[in-house]
Amino acid sequence: MRLRIAAAAAADRLIVSYPRMDVAQGRPRVPSFYAMETVRAVEGALPELRQFERRAERGAMTRLGWPAPKDKALSIDAFEFDLASIHAALSTPRGEARGHGRYLMELNRHAGRSLRQRRQRWERRWSVSDGLMGQDEESRAILARFGLQVRAYSPSTLQHFAACPYRFALHGIQQLRPRESPVPLDEMDPLTRGALFHTVLFRLFPLLRDGGASIADADRILDETAAQYEDDLAPAIPRVWRGEVEDLRADLHGWLRRQGAGNAWEPIHAELAFGLRDRSERDPSSAAEPVALLDGVLLKGSMDWVERHKHSGDLRVTDHKTGRAPGKVPLRVGGGAALQPLLYALACQSLLGQPVKFSRLYYATQRGGFTSADIPVTEEASEALAEALRIIGDSIRRSLLPAAPQTGACQYCDYRMVCGPREEERTRRKPPLPELDRLRAML
Ligand code: SF4
Repeated sequence: MRLRIAAAAAADRLIVSYPRMDVAQGRPRVPSFYAMETVRAVEGALPELRQFERRAERGAMTRLGWPAPKDKALSIDAFEFDLASIHAALSTPRGEARGHGRYLMELNRHAGRSLRQRRQRWERRWSVSDGLMGQDEESRAILARFGLQVRAYSPSTLQHFAACPYRFALHGIQQLRPRESPVPLDEMDPLTRGALFHTVLFRLFPLLRDGGASIADADRILDETAAQYEDDLAPAIPRVWRGEVEDLRADLHGWLRRQGAGNAWEPIHAELAFGLRDRSERDPSSAAEPVALLDGVLLKGSMDWVERHKHSGDLRVTDHKTGRAPGKVPLRVGGGAALQPLLYALACQSLLGQPVKFSRLYYATQRGGFTSADIPVTEEASEALAEALRIIGDSIRRSLLPAAPQTGACQYCDYRMVCGPREEERTRRKPPLPELDRLRAML
């Protein structure tokens, strides 16, 4: 008899989990045959459809947004039981709720630890629960292996620090990456677009270096490269893909026209890399080892383009961007978010043994308006860069890498799944971090 009662309760719960309306789509749903068969197995007869729907509706309406029964005794598994218990505790007046969830802390020590940490994260002070934070010698000894003078970082990894030190830790130290899963390529995503554009420029480079490339050369190279990408990526809608390639062609023509007559800079290297394992499609002068800058900071990466001034012989490093130009142009390090130009300028000086006058971010498409953010490589600029690197290096050394996102940083962050959805709100309650604020204020 007890078994029969439990089975009947489970059948009711199954019905509850089949609301009539698909809430996300706002359209009617057909009751599941499996649910109906379960009810027949438990109650001995197939339920009448309208009555079955009414039972489902009643159940679903009572628990909208909280997938557990009102009465925890009707739970069909441990998750539902916990949710039902928590819901009951939340709806109990503050003073009387004490101890309602105690069993969660005692039942499973990992769950208990996790819940304590979650509570600690909402306190108005920084603690070990706020990111990669360790106050003890052991943590510092581990992090010493990831110091800027010990391990080579790329400029883009270092730039994560200003947006959020914890993002830097997850990306650069723990090397976490979003899992790649095949998705139908309906439209060209920004990464593919950027990669295709850079590959075409790299393949055009020998022609430009040796006297010039025509529009027909650019078209031919774009067609060959785009066909290769299409073969690899198998876009879901070929017509959309071809439209995107034509957009890119217009960008390429605009870019090429600006490389022609009147341009005093001639390209001498493309994809000049250092410290990277993958050496395919790189400049022959690339170095296998990372470059050491300033007081021994190790850097790895690849410079898109190195140019020489036709008259003065000065060098310039260019990084091509395919997105929009930012509203605020960086003067030196751009609040720690634009370390790349100066880092690459110093790396280029070290690799080629010649001073670099300028480093620039070139927004080389119609979307970017073919605008250039030029950063002169001066003594003050190098000092600003050294200071920015000191702040990052000190934070690693002191094991102070909290989740402290800049406004809006979480919105497109790959690690939202790790941190949860309310990090900006949570960390606004914490005391300021003066060194991080100083880095973000640097021009
Ligand atoms: S989600 Fe937000 S808090 Fe978490 S790593 Fe990203 S930026 Fe930092």
